[in-house]
Amino acid sequence: MRLRNNPDAMPFLQEHADLVFINPRDHLGKWHEVFGNNNPIAIEIGMGKGDFIIENARRYPNINFIGIEKYSTVLTIAVKKFLEMETLPNLRFMKEDAAVLGEVFAEGEIDTVYLNFSDPWPKKRHSKRRLTYSSFLDVYKSILKDEGHLIFKTDNRPFFEFSLVSMNNYGARFHDVCLDLHHSEGYEDNVMTEYEKKFSPFGPIYRIDIDFGD
Ligand code: SAM
Repeated sequence: MRLRNNPDAMPFLQEHADLVFINPRDHLGKWHEVFGNNNPIAIEIGMGKGDFIIENARRYPNINFIGIEKYSTVLTIAVKKFLEMETLPNLRFMKEDAAVLGEVFAEGEIDTVYLNFSDPWPKKRHSKRRLTYSSFLDVYKSILKDEGHLIFKTDNRPFFEFSLVSMNNYGARFHDVCLDLHHSEGYEDNVMTEYEKKFSPFGPIYRIDIDFGD
């Protein structure tokens, strides 16, 4: 999601340093201390405007959530939304690029990674930028616990197919593949993202749930 750059975004995020990590490497291996408990930690990478992670944090108070977004302008929208709600002590935000999360989280520090409607980068020459490309799977494998899950949703069929092949070639273990999330049984607890609300009327939503095992 690229929005017109908001020059006030970074100062705003800096003012809310209790909620937003702008230099998160300082907490490597110490994320449980940040939350003050040993609850599981789930992250959404490419959070956008935050609906998914905020609703998850509200529903699941015994899980710690971190919404990660590369662009300050988008992140600011999510943080403002959050500030208008009741306090959720189990939610924080981070301005960071998926590619460097191995420098932010220690090995096995994360229980669940969510990738929701990541940019599909449709041109073949841009395939390395897709967040399910093998170099990104390296990062997720490193930061996830052995039994930790990566859950991916998209409305983009070619990106879904690419991701299936990429994950399979990587040796991931598939727990579930769903070809039409909104018309399948067993997903009643699905939390919708902004993109999901916007694009699901036009076609199926695909979902993949994997772990990297041993
Ligand atoms: N997850 C949201 C949703 O489903 O509504 C937003 C989807 S939007 C298409 C993709 C988001 O990922 C954008 O907000 C974009 O800025 C962010 N993003 C793209 N590349 C990223 C990266 N390498 N690291 C972190 N965020 C990234």
